[in-house]
Amino acid sequence: MPVIVILGGGFAGLAVAARLERRLRPGEAEIVLVSRENFSLFTPMLPEVSSGEIEVRHVVTPIRAQLRRTRFLLADVERIDVANRRVEYRFVLTHSGGALAYDHLVLALGSSTSTFGLPGVAERAFPLKSLEDAEALRNRCVWLLEMADSIDDPVRRRRLLTIAVVGGGFTGVETAGEIFELFRSVVRFYPNVRCDDIAMVLIEAGPTLLAGLPAKMGIYARRVLEGRGITVSTGDGVARADADGLVLQSGRRIETETIVWSAGVAPSATIAQAALPLGKRRGVAVERDLRVVGEPRVWALGDCATIPDGAGGFYPMTAQHAIREGPRLADNLIATLRGGALQPFAYRSLGMMAALGGRTAVAELPGGRVLTGFPAWFLWRSYYLSRLPGNDRKVRVAIDWTLDMLFPRDIAELRIYARGAGLESVVSPEARRP
Ligand SMILES: Cc1cc2nc3c(=O)[nH]c(=O)nc-3n(C[C@H](O)[C@H](O)[C@H](O)COP(=O)(O)OP(=O)(O)OC[C@H]3O[C@@H](n4cnc5c(N)ncnc54)[C@H](O)[C@@H]3O)c2cc1C
Repeated sequence: MPVIVILGGGFAGLAVAARLERRLRPGEAEIVLVSRENFSLFTPMLPEVSSGEIEVRHVVTPIRAQLRRTRFLLADVERIDVANRRVEYRFVLTHSGGALAYDHLVLALGSSTSTFGLPGVAERAFPLKSLEDAEALRNRCVWLLEMADSIDDPVRRRRLLTIAVVGGGFTGVETAGEIFELFRSVVRFYPNVRCDDIAMVLIEAGPTLLAGLPAKMGIYARRVLEGRGITVSTGDGVARADADGLVLQSGRRIETETIVWSAGVAPSATIAQAALPLGKRRGVAVERDLRVVGEPRVWALGDCATIPDGAGGFYPMTAQHAIREGPRLADNLIATLRGGALQPFAYRSLGMMAALGGRTAVAELPGGRVLTGFPAWFLWRSYYLSRLPGNDRKVRVAIDWTLDMLFPRDIAELRIYARGAGLESVVSPEARRP
């Protein structure tokens, strides 16, 4: 029986596995999925987790509960050996290694945060990519308030209460809005901190927010965020970061101890070491039918792939695209097994949405129309709730949203999640305290 190995249990990998399970006949092929987490993460709600609006467990869905016929390995992929059709992995819990031989390999390893090698940034910035990142950021915000309330030095307090969010795409815009809401919701518990002491700066190197979307969306997002007291800085990228803040390309300095980085993504590092052709953004170069260029038994999709759109461009790295690429890839893989014809992946975006906090959002609708304000926020919530996998998760998130309307956010600083800035660092609470 042919073996199909899928690497990565995110939007893309699960979409492929689910379609293969549905369409493969019994005994036609074995499906194995390898991922380093035993859950899939619903990233569109991650900014709300970082602000404490949604409980951390409610945006993840166990992989084993989503699949029936697929063998799941909770393991880190260490090496992809295309020449010998093998994948080497290491179990996450036991650290013992193993290897899988495949007939067809599907790469769905996603992306990682990129700081473009800017000095001091990787060591100090808080990324927002994983569940741990979101919880570390929420905890950091509470810690900042506790610290600011405990000290007398006004300069240090100002620096503590200044948050810099770097990246004016939908993640950065949502994160700035959400974290500002968190501060506003709980500041009354801190007698030595006033609302005016809190400064949020959103930094975007390009000329507008929400680049690539209709200009009206960026203009509206800026107006709403500035109206709430957030400083928006465009046209000036980050040059470097140090212990007390960051320096922009213009030489302007921002004094802060908390930099949230949502300015860049790069395809998974595991892809880089495999001998595979790379395309734009260093993702695996694939044909329009999602086969890797020159490798008829290797397929790629989602954030780790560079997928031509047939009009000279490439499809964007979004969950919306990843979950549509999955069924096309699975259908083409099955067609390959059965000797059928392959179809190109073709999809027109449904639009993009960004929640701005305070029951406001901005949404691009099909056809390029733009919806703003409360109706866009309502659409954002309804759409993403409907896409969240698992009915129990839907109910839990709906309850979180309802509670958030009735009560202030939780300010318990949980040291089990203590983690310093830096893309990979996990440090003790003592080590991260100055
Ligand atoms: C904060 C945030 C908000 C976002 N909001 C939106 C939104 O509103 N709408 C939208 O369309 N998109 C959004 N995105 C983008 C979206 O999350 C990605 O485009 C999408 O996750 C890509 O799916 P994927 O399956 O390719 O990668 P992922 O979902 O990242 O999945 C990759 C999987 O591979 C696993 N993995 C990686 N390396 C290894 C390894 N070496 N060994 C084992 N397992 C490995 C990972 O643990 C993960 O489970 C957002 C992203 C972020 C970070």
